[in-house]
Amino acid sequence: MKYKRILLKLSGEALMGNQQYGIDPERVNQYSLEIKRVKELGIEIAIVIGGGNIFRGVQAEEGGIDRVQGDYMGMLATVINGMALQSNLEKHGMYTRLMSGIKMEQVCEPFIKRRAVRHLEKGRIVIFGAGIGNPYFTTDSTASLRAIELNCDVVLKGTRVDGVYSADPEKEPGATRYSKVSYREVYEKGLNIMDMTAFTLCQENGLPIIVFDMNKPGNLLRIMQGEEAGTLIN
Ligand code: UDP
Repeated sequence: MKYKRILLKLSGEALMGNQQYGIDPERVNQYSLEIKRVKELGIEIAIVIGGGNIFRGVQAEEGGIDRVQGDYMGMLATVINGMALQSNLEKHGMYTRLMSGIKMEQVCEPFIKRRAVRHLEKGRIVIFGAGIGNPYFTTDSTASLRAIELNCDVVLKGTRVDGVYSADPEKEPGATRYSKVSYREVYEKGLNIMDMTAFTLCQENGLPIIVFDMNKPGNLLRIMQGEEAGTLIN
């Protein structure tokens, strides 16, 4: 198997499905099944979940809420998503732990690196909620950071599109998809993959990123089996 330990980043928006807000239970269920297929290969799985379906810090400022306060609200939103996913994964028979960047003892463990590694070694799927636990960061940065800390082989960024395009494919129909790009090309061409903090962390630590369509059934499994689906950045 090409990958032994992976970090899967799921955005909060992905969990909305076709809704305008919140969590679509069917979508969560679908993701759980995709994750289960990969788990059955014996791959260790860490998941970072976003919160954009519920709350984003930047949107707080527009509504008269202090940015830092808003960011903490966004972090709490990711814990709600994490709890939903955890519960559904367990319903499908997987063993899980939810670890949070903000202490919330009643619902999840605090993030402790050695403990996270131990969970992964024991075959538990570890979900990271509350991001890094600091304002002005994103869950993409959390994904990069945790992947590096935990020695993951790759960051898999599950999106609604099947990879990285020369322009936004939802706006420009002529945009072409890359199957592979280098970190340098991403800067040079101004490609939008994740925020710069998150991206730079990956580049500086030589951590490969794969951007792929998480909504296409079997895609995650195909990537694990070495097939080309999405865009590899390394
Ligand atoms: N956030 C934060 N620090 C972190 C992670 C997240 O402040 O380490 C806040 C930030 O306000 C962000 C929100 O949580 O807007 C939700 O996360 P994100 O926007 O990354 O979610 P996604 O876009 O993946 O749904």
